[in-house]
Amino acid sequence: MHSNVLSLISLILYLGVVLLPLGLSLALNLPQRPWPDQLSSHFAMIGFNLILLEFLTTGRLKLLSRLLGIDWALQVHQLLARLAALLLLIHPFLYTLPNKPSGLYVSSDAQFLGINLASSLTGMLALITLIILIGLALTRQNSGLRYETWRASHAIMALLVVVLGFHHTTHAGRFSQEPWILIYWQIALALALLSIAWVYLIQPLIQAQQAYQVVSIREVAARIWELVIERPSSTKSSTPSLKYQAGQFVWLKIGHPRPLYENPFSIASCPDENSTQLKFLIKEVGDFTHQVSQLNKDDRIFVDGAYGNFGQKIYAPETQELVLIAGGVGIAPVLSLIKSLTKSSDPTLLKKKIVLIYGNRAPEQIIDLAKMVNLQAFEQLTQINVISEPNQAWQGEVGVLDAATLNRILKSTGIEVTKAQYFVCGPAVMIDAVENTLDEMGVQLNQIDSEKFQYDLTQKNPRNRRSIVTWLMASATLIGLATYWAMR
Ligand SMILES: Cc1cc2nc3c(=O)[nH]c(=O)nc-3n(C[C@H](O)[C@H](O)[C@H](O)COP(=O)(O)OP(=O)(O)OC[C@H]3O[C@@H](n4cnc5c(N)ncnc54)[C@H](O)[C@@H]3O)c2cc1C
Repeated sequence: MHSNVLSLISLILYLGVVLLPLGLSLALNLPQRPWPDQLSSHFAMIGFNLILLEFLTTGRLKLLSRLLGIDWALQVHQLLARLAALLLLIHPFLYTLPNKPSGLYVSSDAQFLGINLASSLTGMLALITLIILIGLALTRQNSGLRYETWRASHAIMALLVVVLGFHHTTHAGRFSQEPWILIYWQIALALALLSIAWVYLIQPLIQAQQAYQVVSIREVAARIWELVIERPSSTKSSTPSLKYQAGQFVWLKIGHPRPLYENPFSIASCPDENSTQLKFLIKEVGDFTHQVSQLNKDDRIFVDGAYGNFGQKIYAPETQELVLIAGGVGIAPVLSLIKSLTKSSDPTLLKKKIVLIYGNRAPEQIIDLAKMVNLQAFEQLTQINVISEPNQAWQGEVGVLDAATLNRILKSTGIEVTKAQYFVCGPAVMIDAVENTLDEMGVQLNQIDSEKFQYDLTQKNPRNRRSIVTWLMASATLIGLATYWAMR
């Protein structure tokens, strides 16, 4: 199915689940209250349900991530959290209270609403925690907070929000005393808690039984390491080998399967029945990647994956021209895809016209791809290296992957710009520049498949703009339905 249609259908189904408790409450046909009170309950139910469903879109559901991509999951996660916070923040101010809420516990209001001190406190604490949680997530990149510290605080606060929120909902919520609605909240809470337990408890326990070992580690370009890992022969027969598709990524842990200390890396090898090894290309940029460079043969590695769906359109028979654009170590999943084409049983894949644009800052950062994959197998593959800070000996393309460079290269290779399929991987800034340029050249978003090494909605690119418009429409639909049903 076309990926845009699949994303849209998935979003509609997701919004359907978001509206489920509201639908159940309407089916109860309870006596009407003034519409602002009704709207307040509707906002609260949608908001809290959005929060519970957030646990499914953290990117750790393999099926979701493979079908829809990690981008879909994380954008739904990031954008709908904002809507949830907004609805939950507004809802206490909609009640037609004898005294308007002052933010403090007022016993006459409490009597009117049927809440007590405990449930108003849990509601307030959940809301404050949620706002801090979202604030920290929005400012993480610039806050200087270590990634692991941020992630631990995110998980703990998320747990607090759902537990406190559940108490408030089931004690103060007008509809929560109704058995079906209570059952819904209990199931949704159980799933949310299970998903946290899965990532932080169950997965580490499973991983402890399925350790990999370092086969080799070598520097293949300046500060870029090729890491090869494999299951030890003693456990190979007892544990299934990792199932993955070319272009996917995994979370790696070094030395110990404990939670939090794990980082995402694309698999640079391709699924190959003859090999149980996994290869990675890892650029040394900080703590974790430095530890990778210090690994020794037989050191233990733990793997969680595989996730994502980058590059799956590469096999589509209708796309005859492929443009692969990699920035720096973004070459890793691209290499995996190229390798998978050479191993495919479909010979027509090797006849496609392929242009591989490989951008780096300096020539010594270029990985010699010919040593890793049989490029000769392709009938029409052109590799163009682009360097932004060339030395005197450099004779190839110079520049960053901006409009001018891409225009020049695509013209020189005779690619039909608006017909080709594009696969782009690398740092977010580079992907932005490439997506913006392709957009200006008339390339449709569904012709561009990108894998970002950071997820940041503040980047200005056509994909994020489309996501924000979709989010605004989804939010308007939810708010519109909640209001319509409150005023009926
Ligand atoms: C889907 C995906 C695939 C990736 N594939 C590759 C690859 O094949 N090769 C490669 O070299 N790099 C890859 N990266 C980037 C890699 O994950 C980061 O460079 C690495 O995690 C940095 O960790 P550090 O502690 O060495 O550096 P730091 O300096 O601590 O981190 C640098 C930046 O990396 C990100 N980061 C750090 N820790 C984590 C974490 N635990 N989880 C998520 N992001 C984190 C943060 O945005 C941080 O600002 C990929 C990233 C993603 C999201």
